[in-house]
Amino acid sequence: MSKIFDTLQPYLDKAMALETARNLFEWDEQTLAPFEAANYTSKVVGILSDEYMKCLINDDVRKLIKKLKEDKEQEELTDKEKAIIKELDKTYEQLESIPPEEYRAFNELTIVANRAWTKAKKDNDYDYFAPYLKKIIEYKKKFAGYRAKKGKELYEVLLGDFEECFGIKELDIFFDKIKSEIVPLLKQVSQKSDTIDKSYNFLKYDLDKQREFNRYLCGYLGFDFNRGVIAESAHPFTLNLHNHDVRITNKFMENNLESAMFSVIHETGHALYEMNIDDSLTQTPVGSGASMGMHESQSRLFENIIGRSEAFWTPIYTKLVETYPENLKNISLEHFIKGINKAQPSLIRTEADELSYSLHIIIRYEIEKAIFSGEADVDKLPQLWNQKYQEYIGLTPANDAEGILQDIHWSYGEFGYFPSYAIGSAISSQLYAKIKELMPVDDYLKEGNITPIREFLRDSVHKFGATKNTNQILKDVTGEEFNADYYVDYLKEKYENLYSL
Ligand code: ZN
Repeated sequence: MSKIFDTLQPYLDKAMALETARNLFEWDEQTLAPFEAANYTSKVVGILSDEYMKCLINDDVRKLIKKLKEDKEQEELTDKEKAIIKELDKTYEQLESIPPEEYRAFNELTIVANRAWTKAKKDNDYDYFAPYLKKIIEYKKKFAGYRAKKGKELYEVLLGDFEECFGIKELDIFFDKIKSEIVPLLKQVSQKSDTIDKSYNFLKYDLDKQREFNRYLCGYLGFDFNRGVIAESAHPFTLNLHNHDVRITNKFMENNLESAMFSVIHETGHALYEMNIDDSLTQTPVGSGASMGMHESQSRLFENIIGRSEAFWTPIYTKLVETYPENLKNISLEHFIKGINKAQPSLIRTEADELSYSLHIIIRYEIEKAIFSGEADVDKLPQLWNQKYQEYIGLTPANDAEGILQDIHWSYGEFGYFPSYAIGSAISSQLYAKIKELMPVDDYLKEGNITPIREFLRDSVHKFGATKNTNQILKDVTGEEFNADYYVDYLKEKYENLYSL
């Protein structure tokens, strides 16, 4: 037991409470808060952010951390405490160099910018959002500039906030591989995409029935309703206050059956991660997922690899048909499985199929890279966006609402986040290869038994929170660090089979 660490504890607790309050406002903003609340609530969020920063970044805490990093003190620390110190180091690196008034102004700005984005998207008016986006980018450049070590690119700094194991070099290699292997495959598939009929998916599906079935699906996967809730928002997401309060949202569309189903499976994957974090870690700086990429691997494992498999639907497809007999009575399980796996180039990332998904990410990655290297002008981003969609997906958006305004992330200043989605997909394939080696996973799924998979993930990934990073987890579970070959092999095998290529 370290006495010095005990002295640090009250600071950590207070910071945790302030962050929890801020998160709760974020949840509220996205779910229940009235439209006009933003300008006023932003003041509250600004003050909370400011207090959070003061609570962690101050001379007392700085001295304690310095002391705790000395060899003699390190010997006294538990592994959990060492991980917390490492995490605090990261927080210091992220925040210390940013003047508090700028940090506060930025946090206030994101609340207003998010509302501007909502309006711009609704009105299909990029020009309305552009001034906010410019200000956000200016702040992000400034902040990254404060933090960038000599010779380090600004975008590299931002990427590191979401995934410490992946910088520009690693991502360029990963994405080049995807481009060379998946773009040609998508071209082949899109020529045959008419061979799969999916018209049943776009009939009218009663919204209340959708809500009920999706709640069932969420519980079927293991979501604990005593420790979590589901609400609705414009963009489905997961937010956790701690491991006993994990919240997800969903979005329902009357003329699209699968959109909400796969969103809820996806968010449940995130939620299970947070619910399974060890009690000893929750409400500490390492009490959340290891990284955004690792988080996405869990949501995508459930959404795509498990959730789109025939074995998964075998025990529950009848229930789905009974929920909407008028639309599905003539759709066989085999037909449905082909439908939910159909690949077709499309414009909206969140609605994209598994095969083309990573290309949507590559487009955003390349645009963000260009923004932070100074090559892209904010006013011309819609043109750049449309040009890249034509190049990689073969389609041009008809308007900015289905183009550059489709994602929420930039309105919150989340640059460097998108690659996590693709990293997550690749990790999910790597983990699944291991799961298949260890257990008869298809048999379990056909029996409606998700427990062994969930327990494996809990014990090998979830419970550690952020005490290990992505590559450490992968190495411990699969014996090797990140390897994108599993992902490429998985996609090739799946789509070559599905389309008899
Ligand atoms: Zn996600």
